[in-house]
Amino acid sequence: MAVVMRGTCSECYQTMELMLTEKQKEIVCPVCGHAVPALDAKAMESIGKEQAKRRMLGVVAFVLFLVAAALFYGFVTKAEPPAGQQFTVLPGVAKGLLGASIVALLAAMGVGFMASNRSYVCEF
Ligand SMILES: [Zn+2]
Repeated sequence: MAVVMRGTCSECYQTMELMLTEKQKEIVCPVCGHAVPALDAKAMESIGKEQAKRRMLGVVAFVLFLVAAALFYGFVTKAEPPAGQQFTVLPGVAKGLLGASIVALLAAMGVGFMASNRSYVCEF
């Protein structure tokens, strides 16, 4: 199982994407060649699990976004008065759909933020 994370070199302070695999024996800075022993299997596993969770959160955020879009579409159709008529106030169902779509959108943003929050910056 390969793990990708951000790493900062302790020699040249360059930040880069590190691609780590179990077979790798050491982490090498592509800029200055500084090398340290690679992470042990346990650390690799816990990072892999964490990243899998983030990927799942990313999917949840995407689904919530689709829900928000669908609710907003529902609002648009309900807010449109039938031909020849005019709404003086928005029907309650339209307001409800608008409110729900905003909530779903905010939830999608919140989950998306959690999914994209990269806590793995390793210094080596
Ligand atoms: Zn370096």
